Amino acid sequence: MHLKSLTLRGFKSFADRSVLSLEPGITAVVGPNGSGKSNISDAVLWVLGERNARNLRGQAMEDVIFSGSSGRKPVSLAEVELVLDNSDGTLPIDYREVSIARRLYRSGESEYLVNGSVARRMDVLDILHDTGLGTGTHSIISQGALDSILQSRPEDRRSLIEEAAGVLKHKQRKERSARKLEQMAAHLDRVRDVHGEVL
Ligand code: ATP
Repeated sequence: MHLKSLTLRGFKSFADRSVLSLEPGITAVVGPNGSGKSNISDAVLWVLGERNARNLRGQAMEDVIFSGSSGRKPVSLAEVELVLDNSDGTLPIDYREVSIARRLYRSGESEYLVNGSVARRMDVLDILHDTGLGTGTHSIISQGALDSILQSRPEDRRSLIEEAAGVLKHKQRKERSARKLEQMAAHLDRVRDVHGEVL
């Protein structure tokens, strides 16, 4: 699986429809300060379901909508579409190409689309689950994040490494199962009590 293209329209500094074609391998985005390089990674985070405006370097989610410039009026809709190449079947969806899109209107209305059909945020998260892509997976390391990783407590750093190694999801499943086992043991005690009373 790899990112195939990213289309932005009305998102942050990208007032006009802009399409970035991405090839397999490394892509470097270069440009002067303030030209919108980080806005591109913000767009990837956003389309994958980011809900915290601060992680997108804003105060409110509306800040992602192009707010106008000296020569341009503000727009009322921000839209980002990310196309993923799924020819290796990494994503659990029967398409060789998967398009995930997100729209936000200034009125506050928003929607997600998967291959052009309206979807829920949860559907997007489900598709990305276990792929290493998605919110909170550290597949996007923002400016300043490296410093905080290097200065973080060893336990926090360990969980980051565990997540990258794919261990974290098994750990979480193990914890869930342990909790269920505890509940079952409590139920069993109760059943034994009742059984003892009946006899
Ligand atoms: P640097 O190299 O300094 O990190 P950069 O190329 O990563 O810069 P960005 O931070 O992506 O630049 O872009 C900043 C620009 O985006 C600023 O000019 C800012 O005014 C503009 N911008 C951010 N949000 C919006 C918005 N909602 N509407 C219009 N312009 C916006």
